[in-house]
Amino acid sequence: MAEKKVYFFGGGKAEGKAKMKELLGGKGANLAEMSALGVPVPPGFTITTEVCTHFMKTGGKYPKGLENDVKTALKKVEKIMGSRFGDHRNPLLFSVRSGARISMPGMMETVLNIGLNESTITGLIDKSGSERFASDAYRRLITMYSDVVMEKAAGIEPKEGMGIRQQLEKEMRKIKKDKGVKFDTQLDANDLKKLVQIFKKKVKQVLKKEFPDDPYEQLWGAISAVFRSWNGKRAIAYRRIENIPDEWGTAVNIQTMVFGNMGESSATGVAFTRNPATGENKFYGEFLVNAQGEDVVAGIRTPQAINKVSKTDASKHLPSLEELMPKLYKQLAQIRTKLEKHYRDMQDVEFTIQDGKLFMLQTRVGKRNGAAAVRMAVNMCEEKLISKKEAILRVNPEQLDELLHPMLDPKAEKKAEKLASGLPAGPGGGIGQVVFTADDAEAWAKKGKKVILVRDETSPEDVHGMRAAKAILTAKGGMTSHAALVARGWGKCCIVGCGDLNVDAVKKTLSANGKILREGDWISLNGTKGIVYEGQISLLPADPEKNVYYKKLMTWADKLRKLNIRTNADNPHDAKMARNFGAEGIGLCRTEHMFFGPDRISAMREMILADDEAGRKKALKKLLPLQRKDFIGIFKVMDGLPVTIRTLDPPLHEFLPNDQASQKEMAKQMGVTVETIKAKVQSLHELNPMLGHRGCRLGITYPEITEMQVQAIIEAACNVAKRGIKVHPEIMIPLVGTKTELTNQRELAVATAEKVIKKTGVRVKYLVGTMIEIPRAALTANEVAEVAEFFSFGTNDLTQMTFGYSRDDAGKFLPGYIAGKILPADPFQTLDQTGVGQLVDIGIKRGRSTRSNLKVGICGEHGGDPKSIEFCHKVGMNYVSCSPYRVPIARLAAAQAAVYPMR
Ligand code: PEP
Ligand code: MG
Repeated sequence: MAEKKVYFFGGGKAEGKAKMKELLGGKGANLAEMSALGVPVPPGFTITTEVCTHFMKTGGKYPKGLENDVKTALKKVEKIMGSRFGDHRNPLLFSVRSGARISMPGMMETVLNIGLNESTITGLIDKSGSERFASDAYRRLITMYSDVVMEKAAGIEPKEGMGIRQQLEKEMRKIKKDKGVKFDTQLDANDLKKLVQIFKKKVKQVLKKEFPDDPYEQLWGAISAVFRSWNGKRAIAYRRIENIPDEWGTAVNIQTMVFGNMGESSATGVAFTRNPATGENKFYGEFLVNAQGEDVVAGIRTPQAINKVSKTDASKHLPSLEELMPKLYKQLAQIRTKLEKHYRDMQDVEFTIQDGKLFMLQTRVGKRNGAAAVRMAVNMCEEKLISKKEAILRVNPEQLDELLHPMLDPKAEKKAEKLASGLPAGPGGGIGQVVFTADDAEAWAKKGKKVILVRDETSPEDVHGMRAAKAILTAKGGMTSHAALVARGWGKCCIVGCGDLNVDAVKKTLSANGKILREGDWISLNGTKGIVYEGQISLLPADPEKNVYYKKLMTWADKLRKLNIRTNADNPHDAKMARNFGAEGIGLCRTEHMFFGPDRISAMREMILADDEAGRKKALKKLLPLQRKDFIGIFKVMDGLPVTIRTLDPPLHEFLPNDQASQKEMAKQMGVTVETIKAKVQSLHELNPMLGHRGCRLGITYPEITEMQVQAIIEAACNVAKRGIKVHPEIMIPLVGTKTELTNQRELAVATAEKVIKKTGVRVKYLVGTMIEIPRAALTANEVAEVAEFFSFGTNDLTQMTFGYSRDDAGKFLPGYIAGKILPADPFQTLDQTGVGQLVDIGIKRGRSTRSNLKVGICGEHGGDPKSIEFCHKVGMNYVSCSPYRVPIARLAAAQAAVYPMR
C-alpha cells in the first residue's frame, strides 16, 4: 500500500486529481479536480481504495497511521471553514460517502450530518438561526446512522418491515398522526426535538446500544460502514451485472456538510451539462428548494426544473431556478461551461445552495442512452471539443443497439388506449406482462416471459429484476431517480414519475384513471414519450437511417475502419436489412436453412431416405430449382457485393423427425412405412453428432449434394449476370480438417461450376474457399491455403473443438464457470483470445505463408462482438461477418479497433 492514504481537497487546492480514479474513486478524484479548478466545492478529504482493500483483507482493520492522517486532513478543513468538528459553538459537520472507480448509483452507503450531538446542536441552531432545521438534521443523522452503521454494517438482518429505519419512520408517522398533519414539513421545532429523543430511545431499545454522542465515534463508525457496504448484497449484485471486479474497493469521501434545507434561500439539485436522454446541447436538471440531496432522487416531492428547457408536464407550473434565483443560476451555468470545457464530456453534477451560496458536490461523466451518446459525440466534435477519433471512441458500440431498437407502431399506438403518462426516462418501445417485484420479474423472465416491472419507485435492491424486465415503469421519481439512471445506463425502455399510477405491490395490482390491472396483464410503454398503454401494441423495427447524428458518426467510422463488415444471412429479406445497416457482403449463407421450408423439407427427406445415388439425385433435382431461386434473390439484393455460400453442414438426422407422430406423418407423405423412417433415423443416430457425419464429410460421401448446390449457385450467378447484375459468389466448404478434404470438394465444385459456365456461356468469377473451424485446419493452414482462395473462421465450432465444450450442452456448466470465475466470459460470446485466438492467429499466418493474398474473415458469433472484432482487426483479417442487427455495432467496433492504437 502506498504511504499516502488520505487526500485533501478544498479552498482552491487539492492533493488528488481526476486521473486518480483507481485510488480516489470517481467521486474523490473529481472533487479534487473541481477544487483545483476553482469550482466552489465544500472542503474535505478522501480515504483511498487501498485502505478499503486492506480493510476487507484484514477483516476490518485500518492500516497504521490512518487515524493520524485523518486528523491532519480534518484540521486543514477546520482551518478553511473556520469551524471545528465537535465544537459546540461553531460545529463542523461532515458527510461520509462511498466512491468507487466506476459509479455504482445508490449501491453503497452514505451518512450525513456526522458530528451532531446534544452539545453541537446548540451551535448549529445559532449558526442557522433555526431550531427546527437543526433538530431535523439531527433526526436525519440518527435515522441514517442507526440504519447504515448500527444495523446494516453490524450485520443485523431484521425481519421484513422491522428494520430500524422503518421503526423510526413509524414513530415519525405516529407524531404526524397525533398532530393531525400530513407532511414532515408541518412538524415544528418542538415536534422534531421530541422526535430526536424518541428516536434515540428506540435505537437503544431495538439495537441494544446507545446512539453515539462522540463525533469521532460517529465519524469512524460511518467510515467503516461505507467500506463494509462495498460487500453489501446490492453492491455485489450490481458488480456482477456490470462486471466490476471485487478487488477494486471503494474510497470514502469525508466532506464538509452544506445544507440545502436551511430555508427558502437554500436548495439542492442535480443537473446534466447536456440532455442525457436526447443528447441536445442544453443544460438540463432539476432541484428542490429547502431540501437535502436525498429528497431530489427519492422522488417524494416533484422537483422543479433548473431552466425552461428542463420543464416537464409535472414541473411546468413551478418556477425554475433561473426564475427563482437568477444570479445563482448564472453562476451554475458558468460552472457548467467550465466543467464541460475541462472534462470535454457531458457531466452529471450535484449542487447545493446553502443560504444563497452555491456549492458543487459532485461531477462525473454522465450516463446517457445510445441516441444521446451518438448526438453528443457528433456535436462535441463539431464544436471542436473533441476530435473525430475521440468521437468514435465516445460511443459504446453496444449502445447503438438502442437506436436500432424497435418502437411502438405509431398507427397502432394511435388506436391504443392510454392508461397513464409519466416521464420518458428510457427510449424505445417495451411490451410485457406486469409484475410487481424484482424477484417476480427475474423468475418470470427465466421462464421466457416478457415482463414489465412496475414499482412505486425502484431502489438498488431491485436491480436484478430491472435487468430481467423488458421495461420499467415507476409511479414516482424524476428523470434523475434511481430507475431513470439505471435504465438509461442500460438503454432500457423506462417511464418514471407516472403520477396517475397507484401501485399496490402487496395485492399485486395497479390502478390508473379508474382502471385496475393485475399481475400478468399486458401493457405497452412508449419510453420516448412517456406513455403507458393497456394491452399489447405491435413493435416496429428501428430506423436509424433517419438519425442524422448516427449517419454522420457511421460515415466517420467507415472511413477509419480497416475491416470490412459482412453479414450472416440466408434469405433476401435479411440480406436487404443488413445492407441497409451497412453490410458490404454476405460472409455466411447457411444453405441448410433453405431446406426447412414446407416446400423443401420433403424433397430433402426423400434424398436422405434414398438407398442409392440415383435415388438421391432424383430428390436433389427437385431441390435444385428451389435453391437456384433463393440464390438469385440473394444475388439481386447484394448487387455485386461478395456472397459467401456454404455447402451443406449439419448432420442429416437434423432433417428427420424424432417423435412418433411426426414420423408417422412423414411415412404417410412419402408413401413408406413408419418402420422405414424409424430405421433411417436409427441408422443416422450418432453419439456425437457435432463431431460426426457433417460438414465436408457429407459432401465427400455424397458428392451429388455438393454438385447440386454448386450447380444452383453458379446457375443463379449466370442468370443474374446475364441480366447485367454483378455477382461475386464464394463457395465455402465447411468443417475441413485436412487439405485433401478440401481438394476433393474443390475439384468437384470447380468441375461443376465450369460445366454450368460452359453450358450457359456466361463467364462468372467465383472463388472456392473454406471455413476454418477445426483446430487441425488452423494448424495446417499453410497446406489448406494451397487449395483455398479464402478462409472464414467458424469460431463457433472452433471454440467448441478447442475447449472441448459442446456448443449445445455447455449451458449446463458455463454459467457456473463464469460466476465462479473459472472463465472470464462465455467463450461462445466473446472470443477466447488466449486459446482459440492463438489458433486464429496461427491459421492466418500459416495460410498467408503459402498464399499471400489469402482473404480472411470470421463468421462465428464473435464477428458481432466488439472485443472480438478488435482482435480480428489486430490479427489482420479482411472482414467480420455478423447478424444483420449487429452490422452497425461491428462497423463502429471496427473503427474503434483501428483508432485505439492511434490515440
Ligand atoms: C461456426 O462454426 O462458427 C459457424 C459459423 O458455423 P455454424 O455456426 O453454422 O456451425
Ligand atoms: Mg460451424
